[in-house]
Amino acid sequence: MKLYNTASRVKEEFVPNHPDIVKMYTCGPTVYHFAHIGNLRSYLMEDVLEKYLRFSGYNVKRVMNITDVGHLTSDADEGEDKMLKGAKRENKSVMQIAQFYTDAFFEDCRKLNIKRPDVVEPATNMIDEYIKIITRLMETEYAYFAGGNVYFDTSKLEKYYVFNDFNEDDLAVGVREGVEEDQNKRNKNDFVLWFTKSKFEDQALKWDSPWGVGYPGWHIECSGISMKHLGEDLDIHCGGVDNAFPHHTNEIAQSEAYLGHKWCNYWMHVHHLNSAQGKMSKSKGEFLTVSLLEEKGYDPLAYRLFCLQSHYRKNLVFSFENLANAQGAYQKLINKIASLKDNDGGIDEEAMNALKDKFMQALDNDLNTSLAVTSLYDVLKYKTNDVTKLRAIESFDTVLGLDLIKKAAGKREELKKQAENAAKAVVAVVFEGCDADPEIEKLALDRIAAKKAKNFAEADALRAQIAEKGYAVEDTPAGPKVKRV
Ligand code: AMP
Ligand code: ZN
Repeated sequence: MKLYNTASRVKEEFVPNHPDIVKMYTCGPTVYHFAHIGNLRSYLMEDVLEKYLRFSGYNVKRVMNITDVGHLTSDADEGEDKMLKGAKRENKSVMQIAQFYTDAFFEDCRKLNIKRPDVVEPATNMIDEYIKIITRLMETEYAYFAGGNVYFDTSKLEKYYVFNDFNEDDLAVGVREGVEEDQNKRNKNDFVLWFTKSKFEDQALKWDSPWGVGYPGWHIECSGISMKHLGEDLDIHCGGVDNAFPHHTNEIAQSEAYLGHKWCNYWMHVHHLNSAQGKMSKSKGEFLTVSLLEEKGYDPLAYRLFCLQSHYRKNLVFSFENLANAQGAYQKLINKIASLKDNDGGIDEEAMNALKDKFMQALDNDLNTSLAVTSLYDVLKYKTNDVTKLRAIESFDTVLGLDLIKKAAGKREELKKQAENAAKAVVAVVFEGCDADPEIEKLALDRIAAKKAKNFAEADALRAQIAEKGYAVEDTPAGPKVKRV
């Protein structure tokens, strides 16, 4: 498989460090509010990557943090604490807010068929890990204490900007936007590893440390949690593209300074979902959630299809019109699958292999999900039996996660019920030009039931019995019409 690596800026052949396991880390949500569908685009595309690695035969161990401490309103460690802000907004404790929005996040993931990572670790569980890492960084002088906080000294690194060739001054200005420069920093991109002092309202949760009572910075949590659960090396680190700087840049700086060797080989960044007004953001207050899509009558999996139809490295513009188109396409696809017969023979292995090759070619090329979706239509058009088509779709859907087989079964059931109801509809036998005869009426109704059950021999036999008794029967849209002959 070829995967675009943000660190090398090229598509690279994916080769895991260890043959038996792919170690994958995902930056999890900051749980101070609901996730918006932009955040969920990132998790959804990362889910497809994980599922495709498994489909390709790899074992995967995936770890995700839950940010319940340390993430300030500016990604560059300044401003108010996001969790405290959420707690104040809702008059709850920080831990209540964290629990509520963690549960809400996983409920959204469930609706979108995003698998729960193997390990989910709240940042507040791993304080000892961060202290261990920061202690070593202080000993090796990659970190310094100033004005009550511990900072990472970015000037100690040969290369700090791993993801881009940005001009340092431009970047630093962007990062400082709207916040005053921290006078304690030796270099403008130095970042906080441990806070004991903040000029904003104090953190609710604090822990003892060699540098005083305080709390960890945001970046250290991902290094600490990853190393605790995945060891000293990592195959793939994922996140939204906004995480590349400063968050991931700082993760690399502190992890490699701590370990003394390269930490992570592949960096996968999902580009943003934007609304017509621009980037979606939780802090703007008004945002699109999965529940809102449902309230408006959309199936969350139609949103999943909408995301799959675009490449993860392209910005995607959300509109309800685009979502409605995806929902329409999703329904049509389900209807087509529902019309396939599950009992028309054995699996055509040759066709199966050809279809699978095409599907894998798409995803092997830097996770081209839009082509992978197209390969579902290729399956439907392919010259082979229905059973093979159904098994191919079932197999591809373990990666795409659209519940196609389940939804098609539901559709089939719905059609069957409709047919049964139509069959049960009362049909009146009309006697034209003669008196009604209960015996003939029963024979005429039995004949209609036999016809509906496609038992034509029985229907013909009943017509013959009616004729023997001196009547003729004619079918009309309102039911059978009987005359004397
Ligand atoms: P947060 O909960 O704010 O820490 O963000 C969770 C994840 O969503 C991170 O990986 C972000 O990079 C990602 N993200 C934030 N905004 C967007 C967006 N508009 N589109 C896609 N991903 C996003
Ligand atoms: Zn992270």
